[in-house]
Amino acid sequence: MTTEKKVILEVKELSVHFKIKDTKSLLFPKHQTLKAVNNVSFNLYEGETLGIVGESGCGKSTLARAIIGLVESSKGNILWLGKELTEQNAKEWKAVRNDIQMIFQDPLASLNPRMTIGNIIAEPLKIYQPHLSKEEVKEKVRAMMMKVGLLPNLINRYPHEFSGGQCQRIGIARALIVEPKLIICDEPVSALDVSIQAQVVNLLKSLQKEMKLSLIFIAHDLAVVKHISDRVLVMYLGNAVELGSYEQVYHHTKHPYTKALMSAVPIPDPKLERNKQIQLLEGDLPSPINPPSGCVFRTRCPLADQHCIADKPILKGLNNHLVACFQAK
Ligand code: SF4
Repeated sequence: MTTEKKVILEVKELSVHFKIKDTKSLLFPKHQTLKAVNNVSFNLYEGETLGIVGESGCGKSTLARAIIGLVESSKGNILWLGKELTEQNAKEWKAVRNDIQMIFQDPLASLNPRMTIGNIIAEPLKIYQPHLSKEEVKEKVRAMMMKVGLLPNLINRYPHEFSGGQCQRIGIARALIVEPKLIICDEPVSALDVSIQAQVVNLLKSLQKEMKLSLIFIAHDLAVVKHISDRVLVMYLGNAVELGSYEQVYHHTKHPYTKALMSAVPIPDPKLERNKQIQLLEGDLPSPINPPSGCVFRTRCPLADQHCIADKPILKGLNNHLVACFQAK
């Protein structure tokens, strides 16, 4: 008998478009549409980690913010435990935000410098679990500090007294204190030294196991998500271009954009690393205000042909390894 994995989050054909002013026409300013996220669909299963990868400006952080209701979606559906999130009122959001917490990129900037770390970590408890007494809150904060590797006797210190890695541990403690089901980690290690990155990733992995969490882990480079992801979603210019298991995306890479990202991932063997061929991406990321016709990657793709200019490939494939490319085999 096989046990079906439980889907906790369903994102269906989600788009996030922003109306912005065209600053070039000063006299009669027109509005333009910035297409940050286009028609993105994926499921997240209980207890799994989905890595979302792509260059800066590919829409991954906007997608995360739409899931947690920090930006409004323009089209599509987001279902959390079967409940539609795009039509919720403020009261309903409060309940969901207890379940879905977020960890941000810049650890120090995301912490209020005027608050002690004890108060920073306790803040979500005061919002989502106001019935707890002062003593209960303090006890939970101390226990959580121990869990993330911070000494509880530092509870009255301020964020500037901590290193970047320790600040990220404070951010993790703050996100976990309400015992959420899902943590969205928005580039949580990109502002940290490489040596500290591994420590934070390992901490998240062990806490995930211990607290039975699901994670969405956003990064701009495949090397970082490699050590934590069960599945990986690759995004380019607001579009999902490849989605599959860790094994499929890393070892049977299909999309030309993912192949270019993969070629930049360091190989631990110095000889192989020296001899590997890096596929440099030509040109810049096009503007999401004026994306290319057809395939969004065609202006930088070495395989692009007439078909790619005329038509847009959709995400499809076999064995849950989905690719948006006409030439994917
Ligand atoms: S559809 Fe064409 S342009 Fe797009 S990735 Fe595939 S080959 Fe390249």
